[in-house]
Amino acid sequence: MTDVGDFPKDAVSGITPDEWEHLASHFEVGRDIMPHVLGASIGIEYRPARALLLALGMFGLAENYLYVYHVCTEAPLKARKLSEGFEPLPWTCPYCEQSVVSRSELRYDLVCRPTVAIRFV
Ligand SMILES: [Zn+2]
Repeated sequence: MTDVGDFPKDAVSGITPDEWEHLASHFEVGRDIMPHVLGASIGIEYRPARALLLALGMFGLAENYLYVYHVCTEAPLKARKLSEGFEPLPWTCPYCEQSVVSRSELRYDLVCRPTVAIRFV
């Protein structure tokens, strides 16, 4: 039996009733979702998509992570819990093995992993 959690739609603005309808099918327990993917699949902007994913974490319905990217590759190199914040520097990139000393070489993106079945109410 999967746990179910309610999320109040009025906690996030900028999402239409129609978009809320489509949203639900994109959330599965344990399946990672990123704001641009959610945005592209249901046609909402990055900002409300990101706001929604962050809010799911704050409501205890999901774990939020940051994917860490280095300028040397398009692929995410590691995931950090959002609560742990940005990567401390200097950081050795596991891909190019360089020591990163400047924040400008790193990029982050939000990842949301639902921990319960989410019902948008
Ligand atoms: Zn690198």
